[in-house]
Amino acid sequence: MTSAAIPPFRIGSGYDIHRLGADRPLVLGGVTIAGEPGLIGHSDGDAVLHAVIDALLGAAALGDIGGHFPSDDPRFKGAESAVLLRRVADDLRDAGAEVVNVDVTIITERPKIRPHAQAMCVAIAGALGIATDRVSVKGKTNEGLDAVGRGEAIAAWAVALVLTGGSGAA
Ligand code: MG
Repeated sequence: MTSAAIPPFRIGSGYDIHRLGADRPLVLGGVTIAGEPGLIGHSDGDAVLHAVIDALLGAAALGDIGGHFPSDDPRFKGAESAVLLRRVADDLRDAGAEVVNVDVTIITERPKIRPHAQAMCVAIAGALGIATDRVSVKGKTNEGLDAVGRGEAIAAWAVALVLTGGSGAA
């Protein structure tokens, strides 16, 4: 298949993990969840949005989150990750890429994700400027195994599909 014949869809994957134990509310998938310990991080520690950001940047071949928002840059200390996600969405639009869908798996022993999944879809879709039904959020435990299973951290995987302004685009 020649390059010109390849459909202009591109997939990206993202992963992140943050330690639990920050003295602030848990912010996950752009949603503040009361009564749970926060994630430790230079920003608000939202591992879900960080994984989504890396999936989008990967799909568009625009680098990675560390390159866009260096963890030693004081401008991003305590940053709201939803703001960073919005900036990445703008970067993709500037590059002529449209987000088709995003799918996220959150790995954590607690809190249960299902009661918060729809709110996270709304938050992520809102930051991206796409319809909520293009975003999926699912939760899993780590069956008590490893640091995530001991409740010391929350991890997230994300995949994103984008439509680029490439050859096959109408
Ligand atoms: Mg992170």
